[in-house]
Amino acid sequence: MQRQRVPWAWIALVLLLVVAPGPTIRFVGQLIGALGLLLLLLGVLAAIGGLLAWRSFRRRTSVCPSCGALNLGSTVCVVCGHNLAGASNATTPGPVPVDASRATVEVDAQDISDG
Ligand SMILES: [Zn+2]
Repeated sequence: MQRQRVPWAWIALVLLLVVAPGPTIRFVGQLIGALGLLLLLLGVLAAIGGLLAWRSFRRRTSVCPSCGALNLGSTVCVVCGHNLAGASNATTPGPVPVDASRATVEVDAQDISDG
């Protein structure tokens, strides 16, 4: 009759890995956690950097009040030449508001019939 050996060594090893993870398992777990945390921090940093870049870009751009063109870092509109530095400057040409009820339309009547 052959005596069957019980693999006590393997059972002990599996129990040790499950109950108290060894240095290798712990190292791999910490590495995965550190990589995840690093990716999370990189994502947050990228979002913050993108927000700051967008705010800087928006600060340097200006919309022309005359023609509506988007100008990047210039004091004069590149499309119509409107002065963007002094938006309330009175020397800039623009349409003069006219009260239509007081406006006078002059019409000269001409007789075009022959006779
Ligand atoms: Zn313009």
